[in-house]
Amino acid sequence: MENRIPLSTPTMHGEEIGFINEAFEKNWIAPLGFNCDSFEAEMDAYINAGGEKKYHSLCLNAGTAALHLAVKLAGVSRGDIVLCSDMTFAATVNPVTYEGAVPVFIDSERETWNMDPAALEKAFEKYPDAKAVMLAHLYGTPSKMDEIIAICEKHNAVLIEDAAEALSAEYKGKKCGTFGKYGVLSFNGNKIITTSGGGMILCDDPEARKKALFWATQARENFPWYQHEEIGYNYRMSNVVAGIGRGQLLHLEEHRAKKEEIYRRYERAFADLPVKMNPYLADSKPNFWLSCFTVDCECSVDPFKIMDKLSENNVEARPIWKPMHMQPVFEGYDFVSTEENPVNEEIFARGICLPSDIKMTEEEQEYVINIIKSCF
Ligand SMILES: *Cc1c(COP(=O)(O)O)cnc(C)c1O
Repeated sequence: MENRIPLSTPTMHGEEIGFINEAFEKNWIAPLGFNCDSFEAEMDAYINAGGEKKYHSLCLNAGTAALHLAVKLAGVSRGDIVLCSDMTFAATVNPVTYEGAVPVFIDSERETWNMDPAALEKAFEKYPDAKAVMLAHLYGTPSKMDEIIAICEKHNAVLIEDAAEALSAEYKGKKCGTFGKYGVLSFNGNKIITTSGGGMILCDDPEARKKALFWATQARENFPWYQHEEIGYNYRMSNVVAGIGRGQLLHLEEHRAKKEEIYRRYERAFADLPVKMNPYLADSKPNFWLSCFTVDCECSVDPFKIMDKLSENNVEARPIWKPMHMQPVFEGYDFVSTEENPVNEEIFARGICLPSDIKMTEEEQEYVINIIKSCF
């Protein structure tokens, strides 16, 4: 291939530039503004469909900022224990440490590659006072929400849902991001829709959203002069950038459908190989943000060799996100698993993320598939 086939890159449509132009014409280039307000209203309408509770979104400059504010809203402070997904991107966990809290990593189960409810229960036995649970839906696959919500309620812990990779994914008819007390979305360049960089926090009550906005705008008190009684942050989304988000949101379902087509093509092509696609629950609807597979244990093919072969042929592939408990920066933090050989170490050792870019043509995907097949 002449052009490298990427994992996942932005796909623009045209409406985005229209909303940006509107911001320019009105000279509304500052943070916050009408595009932010509209993006929030449009996201509220989208995200709340199918649920009884109403969530209120707030535009921020990154998903990581949203995670940080969610940790603060949950009342997590210095020394508190937060039980965290282990198989995720580091941004899920970093904000826990910004507040001086202590992450404890929870192993995954094999049916969704997400937080294992049994391991979570085991962690609560060890840490009954854990303040919050930080749950990520890996690669756009919904976690076992019924079990996880029940455990959080039983132990009186606040559930924060990192849906950065899972916008438009559903569990039993409800959108990911609307199960916890707080939900987090990301519009980073590689996500299912993008604003080039940005995020949102979803709050189940308007007062919490108001508090998040206060912190995100430098914690300015209502005085004629700059009066500060708390530490603040500059986490606002620009009105220009929000215009990209409004245009992208119009195409979210189309992006999801294309991501699913890609997954299904891989699934069919690899039906006879000793591999398994990233799994999901029958009553959930992933957004198929990234297609992945693991090579079966009995098979001697090294997934890292497959990645090398793909790379030599100008195809981007990646290992599965390296588990947090294996990261040098988190050395010394506890990790809870119900198995002698942690599930996440196995998935990491045996897995690959495949090109899942929605601009990839069928021919290009065939090309990727044939290289992979040649490795077996
Ligand atoms: C991308 C991502 C984030 C961070 O979002 P940013 O908008 O890049 O700050 C957080 N958690 C997960 C699981 C992600 O994939």
